[in-house]
Amino acid sequence: MIRIKENIEYTKNEIKEACNKVGRDPKEVTLIVVSKTIDTNRINIAIEEVEDIGENKVQEIMDKHQELSPVNIHMIGHLQTNKVKYIIDKVKLIHSLDRLSLAKEIDKRAKSHDLIMDTLVQVNVANESTKFGLSCEEVYSFLNEIQSLENIRVKGLMTVAPFDEDVENVRKYFKRLKEMFEEIKGKNLSNVEMKYLSMGMTNDYKIAIEEGSNLIRVGTGIFGYRNYTK
Ligand SMILES: *Cc1c(COP(=O)(O)O)cnc(C)c1O
Repeated sequence: MIRIKENIEYTKNEIKEACNKVGRDPKEVTLIVVSKTIDTNRINIAIEEVEDIGENKVQEIMDKHQELSPVNIHMIGHLQTNKVKYIIDKVKLIHSLDRLSLAKEIDKRAKSHDLIMDTLVQVNVANESTKFGLSCEEVYSFLNEIQSLENIRVKGLMTVAPFDEDVENVRKYFKRLKEMFEEIKGKNLSNVEMKYLSMGMTNDYKIAIEEGSNLIRVGTGIFGYRNYTK
């Protein structure tokens, strides 16, 4: 039996310690509990302790959202353009904005629901061929391209760091994204407010927090190893 509440308590403590280490206020950091593959009973136990959950598949959001206690749902996975319509009114923040066609579709669907959708631009900082996201070099031209879209806002940046046995090796990617975050913030682009920096998962969230992350996405550390066969 995985102890969900104890794991959340432990994670919150680790967040505090990482913040203390670098003189940050733990209140700046939001824990998003990643609930992909997890059933709604267990997710609802987590929701007693946190206000934010993350899912990476549209289908899972559709299947689960009605059974969940009130919670902010974050879309953290790759998003197909033709599925935007199913989640546009169900999620608080889309972390995986990575192309113009997706931005246009989000804008269109947000408009038809009379809402403004908050998004993060996903950046593939390490340029891994297996990962989604814009390269660092592509981010500025992308931000320029979406400035005229009225029903979408960019609220920050997101990355998934490479897996590395030695977690210290990924620190440089978090540093790089934080630099970009600050640089973009200084430019006052329209439609862009650099508020959220979404980086850090079970393996590397402490380092991500040391490097300035304020949204961490933790699944395994809360629910244990996922069973993808169900
Ligand atoms: C699954 C997932 C996570 C959580 O990963 P863990 O290693 O289980 O903490 C975080 N971010 C994204 C985008 C994911 O798909």
